[in-house]
Amino acid sequence: MNSSRPGLIERYRDRLPFEPGDPVVSMGEGSTPLVRADHVSELAGCEVWLKLEGLNPTGSFKDRGMTCAVSAAVREGAQAVICASTGNTAASAAAYAARAGLTGAVIVPEGKIATGKLAQALMHGARVIALRGNFDQALELVRELCGRHPIALVNSVNDFRLEGQKTAAFEVLEDLGGEVDAVCLPVGNAGNITAYWKGFVEAGAAPAMYGFQAEGAAPLVTGRRVDKPETVASAIRIGNPARWEEAMAAMRDSRGAVNAVSDEQILDAYRMLASREGVFCEPASATSVAGLLHHRAGGARRVVCVLSGHGLKDPQTALEQAGSVVPCEATIEAVERAVLG
Ligand SMILES: *Cc1c(COP(=O)(O)O)cnc(C)c1O
Repeated sequence: MNSSRPGLIERYRDRLPFEPGDPVVSMGEGSTPLVRADHVSELAGCEVWLKLEGLNPTGSFKDRGMTCAVSAAVREGAQAVICASTGNTAASAAAYAARAGLTGAVIVPEGKIATGKLAQALMHGARVIALRGNFDQALELVRELCGRHPIALVNSVNDFRLEGQKTAAFEVLEDLGGEVDAVCLPVGNAGNITAYWKGFVEAGAAPAMYGFQAEGAAPLVTGRRVDKPETVASAIRIGNPARWEEAMAAMRDSRGAVNAVSDEQILDAYRMLASREGVFCEPASATSVAGLLHHRAGGARRVVCVLSGHGLKDPQTALEQAGSVVPCEATIEAVERAVLG
């Protein structure tokens, strides 16, 4: 055990590809809160729960996959790990690589990742490469690089990532006593929705999987790859998802659906979650709630929306979307006016 709270490899070892005695790189990831959302429930006309994945060690669900991918890389004797990332995979890979004593390199689209994520990757000592290109090109290039050099690729094309991420489905079933009709997720590279469905199937459950993409980056909705994906939700700014077929199969087999929401709808849900539910998630995460509100989830009675990352990841978007501060002189009269005014 290397944290006071058991990480997910320890918690679910019998359902993961790890044997007792295998090296485990962990920071107590998983076991995130599932909270009821009364306001969203009222708007949606069903019982809505929020899975707060921003409470993982580096602030996103990517840690679930990364504890497994990096532990497996250590077991295989890797010296270095690399990933292409819209931000959160980079932050997570950098942290777990640092913890394992491995060299970490991350390739991100230049100027396109949220400030908090960039700060994390740099602080953890990863080599951060800003590619003059988009995420899809970055992923293509790291895959080629890993074919030429002995470096472990920790993107969600790595099956260990999905193994770790499927544990969120186990937690949802445990917390709700197995009673969940539908699950809403933001979809970028499509690894997470694939992983949830894998977890549910392994646990003998079958909630409908609803995936939501941003309108400017919605290849699964249109059926065509997007060469220049654009959306405020930078974590899902992806035009050619690596897990395309598997994600479509998950939504088909579970009788769910994939739909798109506009940036405006995403930002509305983003502000509403913060101001009405007290939950600050990043824009991409709010896509799950925006999707539920605008497209519904069939006739589902109880729905879980996955809030994939923490709001502090992207302070710039938050400050653009929030109210402004109230300037004030240091006198009681001025403070009275400022507070009560
Ligand atoms: C990675 C990420 C997603 C998208 O997950 P995929 O597995 O790429 O579909 C959504 N939200 C956040 C915050 C993410 O970091």
